Amino acid sequence: MPYYVHSDPNADDGHWSTGGMRECARAGRCSDPRIEESGGKTVRLPALTPRAFCTADRDAVARALDALPALFVRVHMELGNRGSGSGGPVVSVSKSAPVPLSLGADELLRLILATLVSWEERVRTVARLVPLDTETSRQRRDGAILTQAWTILAAHLDALLALESEPMMRDGELVYLDGGDAGLDILYLAWRCRALLTETAKAARHLHGVPCGSCGFCELREVLDDNGQQDGARCRQCGAQYDAETYKALVAEKSAPIRLSGAHRRGLVATAGDDRLSRRA
Ligand SMILES: [Zn+2]
Ligand SMILES: [Zn+2]
Repeated sequence: MPYYVHSDPNADDGHWSTGGMRECARAGRCSDPRIEESGGKTVRLPALTPRAFCTADRDAVARALDALPALFVRVHMELGNRGSGSGGPVVSVSKSAPVPLSLGADELLRLILATLVSWEERVRTVARLVPLDTETSRQRRDGAILTQAWTILAAHLDALLALESEPMMRDGELVYLDGGDAGLDILYLAWRCRALLTETAKAARHLHGVPCGSCGFCELREVLDDNGQQDGARCRQCGAQYDAETYKALVAEKSAPIRLSGAHRRGLVATAGDDRLSRRA
């Protein structure tokens, strides 16, 4: 797809530019693309803009940045879930062991802080603010670090997005990053948070092989209490709810030996796509 190369979101060839205008840094994901005909095909090209992003995507970055503190708090709350709490045993009907969701959350929180602080340092330089004291800053608590970085970035968003390309540390390597990359980082972080939170909400584990006492389909999904411990089940087929006690009774009733034949008789097979959790790590 040679004519499409500049729209490749993974292209790392800098920003294509003409006459002081350049392509929106969101590239293939630009919210305001130019639609052009090329070789009989309709091609979406990023908007041309004098800045890093087109107006629509500059606003998308602003919204993502606005949303980050609340997302950060919600992801932080995931840390407590499924920890080594003292709750009841997790009924592991599926083959995959329960995945500690909190690991992903912790990684994401580190990533958010490291990324925002790195941009905060650059904005402080161009905005002639007091440089960040990285020694003491490492001892600040997460919330304080986030608040300070976010406050600086939100107050200087356009300065951030206008940053020239300069070397920055990423994964232990020096790479050249500019304001376009800053915007993409922010969009990415907000997206990662939402993905993690959605995944967590959807992570309701499929309790394979336990037919619903009401409809008979093996479509029970784990229900968790506020501490992330199993607190019963809910049938995705008919909506029947089971609390911890009634679910236990259901499991006792349908013990392993008849599980397969039972499911088979009803013409049901375990649905695919429930391995989201195990694939995630
Ligand atoms: Zn755009
Ligand atoms: Zn049911």
